Amino acid sequence: MSFDLAIIGGGASGLSAAIEAKRESKKAGIDLNVTVFEHLNKPAKKILATGNGRCNFCNTDLNESHYFGDNDFIKDVLSSKYNDSIGFFKSMGILPYFENGRVYPRSEQATSIRDALLKTCEILNINFLTECDIEKIEVDNNKFIILDNNYDSVIIATGGNSQKSQGSDGSGYKLLKALGHKITDISPALTALTINEKSFKDLKGLRVKGNCALYSGRKLLKEEYGEIQFTENAISGIPVLNISQFANGKKNLNVLIDVCNEFSVNDLTKHFKECRYKSPTFRTEEILSGIIPQKLAYFVMKKSGIKENTLASKLTEKNIESLVLTLKQLEFKIDGVRDFDYSQVTKGGASSSDFDTKSLISKKQDGLFACGEILNVNGDCGGYNLHFAWTSGRLAGASAVKYLNNK
Ligand SMILES: Cc1cc2nc3c(=O)[nH]c(=O)nc-3n(C[C@H](O)[C@H](O)[C@H](O)COP(=O)(O)OP(=O)(O)OC[C@H]3O[C@@H](n4cnc5c(N)ncnc54)[C@H](O)[C@@H]3O)c2cc1C
Repeated sequence: MSFDLAIIGGGASGLSAAIEAKRESKKAGIDLNVTVFEHLNKPAKKILATGNGRCNFCNTDLNESHYFGDNDFIKDVLSSKYNDSIGFFKSMGILPYFENGRVYPRSEQATSIRDALLKTCEILNINFLTECDIEKIEVDNNKFIILDNNYDSVIIATGGNSQKSQGSDGSGYKLLKALGHKITDISPALTALTINEKSFKDLKGLRVKGNCALYSGRKLLKEEYGEIQFTENAISGIPVLNISQFANGKKNLNVLIDVCNEFSVNDLTKHFKECRYKSPTFRTEEILSGIIPQKLAYFVMKKSGIKENTLASKLTEKNIESLVLTLKQLEFKIDGVRDFDYSQVTKGGASSSDFDTKSLISKKQDGLFACGEILNVNGDCGGYNLHFAWTSGRLAGASAVKYLNNK
């Protein structure tokens, strides 16, 4: 008996689904044709952009707390037997490289991941139809009709709504909606926060380690420590990307950055007081340059109301108090959250309650599955989103074979 499986979307989750479906069909002795529909001219374009071209494809700390969405759903999917992303890539010849828990291919090149996936698809005789925008899926007599051809099962792997230029344009939501699925509100996640302050431009190019706390008025929304990057009108870097999703829809946003996280207010106060007599002829900017990058030192002085060239011996108690406050709570008013064109992932998506957690089969339409970022699951920066894409893709691919085998 022969079956036809259609996979809409040739990204991370779609390719994993195709590979696992083919592997499982061989084990089950089923003749399965797998066709991947991809609307760009090549599959896996986004993979090349991941991890700054290095593809951070997994993490050694896979605790569910790094994911957002329906906790039980996430737990079930991530505890499936298809959750060994490192093993999955080892089976395609890729050795891992570890950096602070983040997992990259040993080559540190995203092309290795893409090429391994595509080579495996070629070996498994998976068909690709590129430049092929799927806008409609009809269902007739238990068959799915896509571009005039019939399929026994369909997996939707079209990604979210982030970075249209990489293929994910939200079109998958329409496909699922038309098949009876609920789509939650969506918003950009893992994106930069914009700042519209004239003097902020002075910090362009700065990278500094610190604790970044996001507030709406006086309410702390989320905070995270790490390297913060400054552009002309925005802050980014891993801690900012991770807290950005909590800014959506909130008013009176501001960030407080502690650029001296490991020192207490007392430590710093004592240090500056000592500088007054231990290094009295040092200028304040010279003292500060021993603690933070020079560019930031001038900025901190300006914010603290201390004139350039002020000698350490001349620092007043008030000067020291405001220097310490600025270092511990460098404050910026947040103007906005960079939109979907800049966000790495989409928060929200196809409601997880419409899918069986153990198989990812739709509860609305028999024979339909979904995987990857189209689902209402998003993860922290650090390999979590790709790990979810590989795991959910493989689970959906294997489940589609089980479904067809039982037919
Ligand atoms: C710049 C950037 C860097 C990132 N870095 C990392 C990282 O280092 N680590 C990490 O874990 N995550 C990273 N991510 C997130 C990660 O890439 C995604 O979460 C992951 O790719 C989602 O996989 P997916 O298969 O669900 O969707 P996608 O990878 O977006 O794939 C969906 C595919 O479906 C196609 N498609 C969409 N609609 C249709 C349609 N109607 N018809 C036909 N084809 C369609 C698209 O062209 C695309 O190829 C990054 C994202 C970006 C944008």
